[in-house]
Amino acid sequence: MIPQTSINKLNYTCHHQEDESYVIHMLTSSPRSFLTNAYLIETAHAVVAVDTFMIVPDALALRELLHSTGKPLIAIIITHGHPDHYNGTATLMADFKDVPVISTQGITDCIRDSIDAKEVKWKPFFGDEWPSEKILPNQWVNNGETLCLDGLDYYFKDLGAAESSSDLCFTLGMNKSVVFVGDVVFNQMHGFMNDGHSQQWLVVLKQLAGELKDVKTLFTGHGLPGNPAELISTQIEYVGVYQNEVAKLAKGNNGLSQEQKNELDGNMCKAYPHYQLAEFIKAGADSVANELALS
Ligand SMILES: [Zn+2]
Repeated sequence: MIPQTSINKLNYTCHHQEDESYVIHMLTSSPRSFLTNAYLIETAHAVVAVDTFMIVPDALALRELLHSTGKPLIAIIITHGHPDHYNGTATLMADFKDVPVISTQGITDCIRDSIDAKEVKWKPFFGDEWPSEKILPNQWVNNGETLCLDGLDYYFKDLGAAESSSDLCFTLGMNKSVVFVGDVVFNQMHGFMNDGHSQQWLVVLKQLAGELKDVKTLFTGHGLPGNPAELISTQIEYVGVYQNEVAKLAKGNNGLSQEQKNELDGNMCKAYPHYQLAEFIKAGADSVANELALS
């Protein structure tokens, strides 16, 4: 049963994995907090959370959903070090204070290095909704490591730099029919290009395209779940189009003028007219121009 108090401000969907008897609960935040997805993976006796949202009301909705399962939280997995995916950890685990917060060393370093700057940028916008207490990952997994959580295998792959400076993905169960990729793949949304690793992002996407070809469903950090091959090839195309549009305007310079950013915005909105998160287009322009100028 889904409680209707705070969750009803977020979009909820439920994905039953009949082959190995687990359920993926998916919550999506509003556009104001970037249409971010967080997940609860419910098995026979327990729940594992994947990412924890950015602001307190969203994290409270996730906690309410957790309580509605009637099962204990046994772990939180953080897919990468952007605050819309880790900021709500303390709120979510308020009643389960000893659960491990699982991620990689690279992601933990990324959070530690950027957490103050993110707060300076976003707290004025969100005010009291910005969490005061932050909990960083405290259990690290290595590339290729498998953890069994309540009878379900989580097979982790440390992708290194891609969409962010360090990204994690994992498949689930013996059948590996499901994969979580954080923000390495968006679905029907503009990508977040600010971290300036777009070349390496393409390398990682092309690797994943081969490795995930037998996986049935890809769950992303932003957008609906879908077929891995289709979503990955669309993301590869998107990053390439963005790079090309920036390169045409930058002409080798390491940044774009405001006028050029407006032109980039128009060109990307024309190329992807139905995509959400258009505010990401201009925000990432200088990072990608700088990256291309150095390459
Ligand atoms: Zn995100």
